[in-house]
Amino acid sequence: MTTIKLHNTRTRTKEDFVPISADNVRMYVCGPTVYDRAHLGNARPVVVFDLLYRLLRYTYGADHVTYVRNFTDVDDKINATALARQKAGAAGTLEQLVQERSDETIGWYLHDMGALGALEPNEMPRATQYIGQMIAMIEGLIEKGHAYAAEGHVLFAVDSWKEKYGALSGRSVDDMIAGARVEVAPYKKNPMDFVLWKPSTDELPGWDSPWGRGRPGWHIECSAMSYELLGDSFDIHGGGNDLMFPHHENEIAQSCCAHPEGDFARVWLHNEMLQVEGKKMSKSLGNFFTVHDLLEQGVPGEVIRFVFLQTHYRKPMDWTEKKAREAETTLRKWRALTAGIEPAASAAPAVIAALSDDLNTAGALAELYRLAADGDVADLLASAQLLGLLVPEMGAWADTASVDLTAHADRLADARAVAMQNKDFSEVDRLKAAYLAAGVEVRMSKEGVELVPGAGFDAAKLEGV
Ligand SMILES: [Zn+2]
Repeated sequence: MTTIKLHNTRTRTKEDFVPISADNVRMYVCGPTVYDRAHLGNARPVVVFDLLYRLLRYTYGADHVTYVRNFTDVDDKINATALARQKAGAAGTLEQLVQERSDETIGWYLHDMGALGALEPNEMPRATQYIGQMIAMIEGLIEKGHAYAAEGHVLFAVDSWKEKYGALSGRSVDDMIAGARVEVAPYKKNPMDFVLWKPSTDELPGWDSPWGRGRPGWHIECSAMSYELLGDSFDIHGGGNDLMFPHHENEIAQSCCAHPEGDFARVWLHNEMLQVEGKKMSKSLGNFFTVHDLLEQGVPGEVIRFVFLQTHYRKPMDWTEKKAREAETTLRKWRALTAGIEPAASAAPAVIAALSDDLNTAGALAELYRLAADGDVADLLASAQLLGLLVPEMGAWADTASVDLTAHADRLADARAVAMQNKDFSEVDRLKAAYLAAGVEVRMSKEGVELVPGAGFDAAKLEGV
């Protein structure tokens, strides 16, 4: 068995990964807040941890890995949409409308991430299904002196865990107080204390608790759900590096204080952020788009996945249209090359070695290019499929077998013959431009004319040429 090496944020080193139990390798990844469509940046951790999930399944067996990713469905933006719908006359209670909005968004999310080839995790708990467990955990924290109730709120007392709080992100409590703009509330004993529970107004969803009607803070859900589904010690915890502080620090504080007998998560993985054409994605820059937007524009999910995998997860990645076009051409070639071929029994050793080296996806892709160049198509197919590429269910976009371009090629050859005679190439140029616009590569030589579907091929654009 290949030893997987992973960069552990906690120790800041690349370590040999040794699971607590090889029979059940357990991974928790912070999932989305389900208030709207996922933007392209949201998709990066999904692809990164999907790849790790696939590698773990490959290494330990598909039945020996448990992957949990939550849905945060307690959130002010979800409430705001539900409230706006109620005011606009939508039927149902506020709770029902909140649930409706979450259900709708979760449906979109699973569809869009599925289009990127992401396998669904084994468990996808929703925060609203674990309120009782969160309340129990908060009660335990109060009993142990790590939390206190004040004015309908319950806060985690950072001073009760002061030596260890901040270890993951490498900060001390005193530095954080000095450097952070923290909300100073009169009921906080220390400005860094964070909310475990807060009161709800009548206009907001709420649950009965020992501290009155209210709702949980954000961080406690991951601690409660990971404990319920994976236990007090599990192997891997993942998420974007924007979650390292405060979210992951707070998860660690809550979980380690509530269950001091456990280790919580042993290995922490954080992916870097995504940019678009060299710039941070933002609504004000006009470069903000969702995965759904890209899919609607005809960028295949497999192409998005390929572009993501070109950059190592711990480096910032840049989404560019050029990369997407090149990825499409490559995938189209590889799909044509492997059509009708049975994949080899296992991925090529060099591909497994690259992935096992802290998910060196760029190295794995380089190996795929080599296999394609060498004509090792069965190995290419098996190896690509380990990366979630060239899988049959994602290939509809590249299915050009049914497109017969012979008639068009003949027509262009005829036009060329005529043009040679009368020295007027305008019709040839017109046809070539039309084929290029439809994403067709035009190859003209003495032997004849060949038309090949290329990046962005669109059969509809051939009509009327
Ligand atoms: Zn979390």
